[in-house]
Formats: sequence, C-alpha cells, structure tokens
Amino acid sequence: MILPPATLGMLGGGQLGRFFVSAAHEMGYKVWVLDPDPNSPAGLIADRHVAAAYDDYAALDEMAQGCAAVTTEFENVPATTLDYLAKFVPVHPSASAVAVCQNRVAEKTFLADNGLPHGPFAVIRCEENVRDADEALFPAVLKVARFGYDGKGQARVANREEALHAFHQFGGESCVLEKMLKLDSEMSVVLARDEAGAVRCFPAGENSHRHGILDVTIMPARIEPVLAERARDVAQAIAERLDYVGTLGVEFFVCGGQLFVNEMAPRPHNSGHHTIDACVTSQYEQQVKALCGLPLGEPRAHSAAVMVNLLGELWYDDNGDYREPDWSVLQAIPNLRLHLYAKHHARPGRKMGHFTVIGEDAAQVLATAMQARAAIG
Ligand code: ADP
Ligand code: MG
Repeated sequence: MILPPATLGMLGGGQLGRFFVSAAHEMGYKVWVLDPDPNSPAGLIADRHVAAAYDDYAALDEMAQGCAAVTTEFENVPATTLDYLAKFVPVHPSASAVAVCQNRVAEKTFLADNGLPHGPFAVIRCEENVRDADEALFPAVLKVARFGYDGKGQARVANREEALHAFHQFGGESCVLEKMLKLDSEMSVVLARDEAGAVRCFPAGENSHRHGILDVTIMPARIEPVLAERARDVAQAIAERLDYVGTLGVEFFVCGGQLFVNEMAPRPHNSGHHTIDACVTSQYEQQVKALCGLPLGEPRAHSAAVMVNLLGELWYDDNGDYREPDWSVLQAIPNLRLHLYAKHHARPGRKMGHFTVIGEDAAQVLATAMQARAAIG
C-alpha cells in the first residue's frame, strides 16, 4: 500500500486530472502533474507541475524519481511513455490497457474478439476497405482511430462516396466505419478495479449529447433495471479482460432495447463527475485508491444527481463579446454544486466547468437542473 504523504504522478493536466489532484490532496497525498500546457487546470493546483511533453524522457525520469506511482487522465498519452515509466514505478492502468482504449480499431477489435456487444463496423485502412465495406453499414459514421474526442475526427456519411471523401479528408488515417444506429438512449458505467481484481461499479448514468459533446448526465439512468445490470456486467467483463487497474468509463448505446458498447475511457469519465457530490466515494477517490493499492471505497449513490456540462460558448454574450457568466444565478440554488476548471480561455465547445444538482427526488432534481441550465444561458 502506498500511504500518505506519498507523492503520486498524474499524466495529463485537464479537469479530470484536477479532480484527481483534489481527491488525492483530501486524502493526504501530494501530486505531480505532467502536462505541456503551462496553464493546465491540474498543473495549477498540483504540488509540482512538470511542463513538458509526454515523450520528454528527462521529464519522465523526473516523474519516475519523484512519484511513488503514476496514473493518467488522458487516453492519448503514448503507450510507450507508460511502458517506460513502468520500468521504474507502478503505473496503472497499464500501457496495454490504455493502448486498446486509445485506438478505435484496437478497441472495436477487442470487443469483437471477446464477444462483447458492439454495433456493426468495418476497419478502414485504405480506399479498398471503403469499397469493400458492407452496404448495410450505411448511413454510417467514419471515425479516425486515434485522437478523436468530443465528436472531433468524426464524419457522418450517407453512402460509400461520402465515406471515401471523408477518409481522404482525414488524410488516409486508419478509421472505423460504424453503422449509424438509431439510439433509444445513451448510458455509461464507471467502475474501479483494484490489483487483486475486486470491482466496484457506480450506478449507471444516462447521457445526452449536443453536437457530439456530453451535455447532461442523469443518475440513476431511466432505463430498465435489467439493462443497467447488463451494462454493469459488460463493463466489468471489459475491465477483467483488460486486466484493468484504476477507474474505467464505458459508454453504451441503447438501441432497439439492446445494449452496445460505444467506447471505453481508461480514466475517470465526464459522466462520472456527479460521483463527487452524489456517491459515498467519488470516481477520483477510487482512482487514488486503486493506484495506491488501498481497498476500494463504497460506490453507492446517496442522492439522485443530474450533471450539466458548461461549455465555452457560455462566456460569449449575444453580441459575441467575451464575459464571465453570472454565477450568482447558479449559486442561488442550495442543492446545486458548481465546479469550474480554471481554464485560461473559453472557446466554444471547450469544457469549462459543470454543475451537479443532487437530491432525494430524481424528478425534482432533473427539473431543478434544467431550470438552472436555462437560467445560466
Ligand atoms: P467521442 O470520443 O467524441 O466521445 P463517440 O464515438 O463517443 O466519440 O461519439 C460521440 C457521440 O456521437 C456519441 O455519444 C453518440 O451520441 C454519437 N455517435 C457516435 N457513434 C454513433 C453511431 N454509430 N450511431 C449513432 N450515434 C453515434
Ligand atoms: Mg464518447
């Protein structure tokens, strides 16, 4: 067991890393953050911010020397970086687990190979693959295998011609071509798994997206209990097959009453933010516990919760002028908790913060959250 006041290493300095730093601080640990951005949200509150690239080996040596264990909040950290650090300190999740989750081709192939439920897809590495793709895949979504997020690196394509065009637009990078599914709803399961293989799942959340970006998470998800249970089983099976250690997010599509895995995130998940305010243990505390070899905490929700993302467009008024939103509107609501990430500049589509409304009555919580969202803009 790694106990306080040990120093933990975090690769990535975004909001997920920032919440990890807060959780670790609460628990008595110190945290060093590696992120090239001098203004990274996690770096700002870390005990030490190593502002260097993820493949800067001098910086990695520093992290290895200064930290008792290292984790990540960013799935695009090169697997080679995790492998390198693992020679010197415990690294969780492993490079091999992150490698599967960071590449859509590897991810979809992993699901197919392990008999886990997924939608129809084809791997696209060259033009021929587009020509040979099953006609039944169209209309489809073409997604670049690497570095896509918040709907970036994706194109909706009606037919083969459009798919070829999009493939060229993406520079001929490896892609997956997914059948466009008619979604009844989207949901996610966040879980934590420790080194001994114990798994603790948080209650499933129901997610809605706007322009490919998570907008709202409702917990508990308003779906049949059997589906929620099945999602937890599938998420657990994924964690086991990856021999995953840490916090893992699994996104699902519900489609014609069936469940399909959409994608996995080898880190805490945006749809698990509410665990800070509504669960006995948060997904970030679980990440600390799994990393340090502590017994995992109780994931039970003590309240219903609705989480709403706050994107950069809120910082622009009707004339397009930049200004801080009027937070007093949200602060006036007693069962609402506002979380802002201290990002330097708000860009439209950028995740700047979120709020969570909690309470006993799920319908009331949702109504309050929607009123709050309308009030802030
Ligand atoms: P990201 O890495 O940007 O989260 P996703 O693959 O999760 O990428 O896609 C973002 C969103 O786009 C999904 O949550 C879903 O709303 C929509 N989407 C993605 N793939 C499909 C699909 N095959 N069918 C229908 N909707 C999809
Ligand atoms: Mg997604």
